[in-house]
Amino acid sequence: MQIRLQIQRSDPASGETRLQLYELEARREATLLDCLEQIKDELDGTLAFRRSCREGICGSCAVRIDGRTALACRTPAAELVAGGRIPIIAPIGNLPVVRDLVVEMEPMWQKMRAVEPFLRPTSEAPGDGRETVVSPARLEAVRKEALCINCGACVSECDAMTVSPEFLGPHALAKAWRLVGDPREQENAPRLKRLSGEHGIWECTRCYLCNERCPKGVDPRDAIAKLGAEAFAAGVTRDRGARHARWFVTSARTTGWLRESELVVKTLGIAVSVTKIPLALRLYRRGKAPLPLPRHKASELQPARELRRIVAGQDRRGALGIVQSERILERIELVRAPEPEEEL
Ligand code: SF4
Ligand code: SF4
Repeated sequence: MQIRLQIQRSDPASGETRLQLYELEARREATLLDCLEQIKDELDGTLAFRRSCREGICGSCAVRIDGRTALACRTPAAELVAGGRIPIIAPIGNLPVVRDLVVEMEPMWQKMRAVEPFLRPTSEAPGDGRETVVSPARLEAVRKEALCINCGACVSECDAMTVSPEFLGPHALAKAWRLVGDPREQENAPRLKRLSGEHGIWECTRCYLCNERCPKGVDPRDAIAKLGAEAFAAGVTRDRGARHARWFVTSARTTGWLRESELVVKTLGIAVSVTKIPLALRLYRRGKAPLPLPRHKASELQPARELRRIVAGQDRRGALGIVQSERILERIELVRAPEPEEEL
């Protein structure tokens, strides 16, 4: 099988970045990683990339393929070049490039250290040399997050990190949920308070790209949503992000709509909002923001209130109430309100 790849090369000494075309004959079942190794062995020993296990376990070989991040060892080369395509292979995003496809991972480890990735159990062991036993059912709450292989694909895709490099990001926050959701962890309130602060959970823009591209199904965005729900359940609701989220619910309940002009006041407070008036007027003149009065109210409020009643009736507080991502349909199916004939 003939393979043609354009690989982003970068020279740390000169700072120059360019695309280099490689052509090779590869086995039909070759992966992208096989091709990179063949290029290095047979065509160009200077090409730099990372790999270790070749089995989708170590997380070393994440790269961007035509802008989408994936593990090279899990990507069949035949699919990449179908129809004569010449894919562009580049290093993952939001981390500094060391050389070619190799990035500096230290900023990602710093974020992980910032969420203090260790348990602080305060409960005493049962004694008599016995261990604390956690049932498989309770560990299920953090099963997905424990699958993370630290590949950085989610970090690479996160637009919020591109705009705000200090944002903790999907990888570190998935680790944080691994701890907050662990039944042995006893220090959740202070941890949730720190995670709710600046550059924490509320900085996520909910683009869901981290869920979509994670090769292990960790669903970091779901983990962030669970942290937010647990923060609410623990009464950690005073920071801006939480006030912003709370207003969505209040606004939908009282008017059936999101009243955006009031959202600013409810989130930022009156003093800061006053400084935003010139911006609000410019947005209004361009038709991008409504005036706060008269209040925009849906003609029929009942559906919004009924939806809230159904959700509240399920009494799923905290992370239990998060039904998102790839399992949303089956979960909604499980928790849907009974049909009238089913109630009989
Ligand atoms: S959902 Fe949030 S954390 Fe995930 S990639 Fe988007 S902005 Fe980043
Ligand atoms: S959450 Fe997924 S994409 Fe992010 S580092 Fe872990 S395995 Fe990779």
